[in-house]
Amino acid sequence: MRLILLGSGSTGNALYIEAGATRVLVDCGLSAKETATRMVEVGVDPTLLTAIVLTHEHSDHVKGTRVMSKNAQAPVFVSDATRNQCNFGRGNEGVVWGERIEASKPFQIGQLDFYPFTIPHDGADTVAFTVQSNGVKVGMATDLGYITRLVSDRLCDSDLIVMESNYDREMLKVGPYPWSVKQRIMSTTGHLSNDETARWIKEGFDGKAQYLVLAHLSRHCNHPELARLAALRALDVHGSLFFQNAENRLRIAPHDRPSEWFEL
Ligand SMILES: [Zn+2]
Ligand SMILES: [Zn+2]
Repeated sequence: MRLILLGSGSTGNALYIEAGATRVLVDCGLSAKETATRMVEVGVDPTLLTAIVLTHEHSDHVKGTRVMSKNAQAPVFVSDATRNQCNFGRGNEGVVWGERIEASKPFQIGQLDFYPFTIPHDGADTVAFTVQSNGVKVGMATDLGYITRLVSDRLCDSDLIVMESNYDREMLKVGPYPWSVKQRIMSTTGHLSNDETARWIKEGFDGKAQYLVLAHLSRHCNHPELARLAALRALDVHGSLFFQNAENRLRIAPHDRPSEWFEL
């Protein structure tokens, strides 16, 4: 299995994951043109996409869905509630629909097994996933207001975890957003602060993942170094044997370009 984040954050989220001939995009929040450009840039043929899986309807997760689905004839896997909220443009003309997602009901796409679960966010029916193939497990959780017990439990035993670390509390307070937007981000159905992610690292993370990738960082209210430091400090609390070589195993997903490839 290998995966790469093509983009991460409010400018557009898309995670490409592949096992054998199965090639899936989890979220498609860049324009279709930009998604295809970045796929080609990292050596993947955008026309060979097997499917698109959506976590929720916010535009930074669905923007390129219609055109990508149409061009690659790739079915879109989405929950009913999310689908009802989605307007992909042109009345969703040309979208190929796949299976309906239901939280806590596993589904399979080729060689990838998806396990969706509910997370607290202000979408109609926001889900996160763990994905398994050939004994390898990847967990991904972005766009959530806080880390529930369910999230911690589902992410256990993952070989790689993509976890949101959206904002620094102090930077958000003085940041450029109107108060209502700040309140939304900070709420229990908004996004994760570096502190909340650190709390999970201290209390919920099992330390087993080969890589911990911090994602969906705010451009205005966070800095990669702040997110990294908060996570490293939290890892430190466990002692040096818990997540050895943490400096190297902790990665930050860039928002404006693809991350590195992760091969598992
Ligand atoms: Zn988002
Ligand atoms: Zn969202």
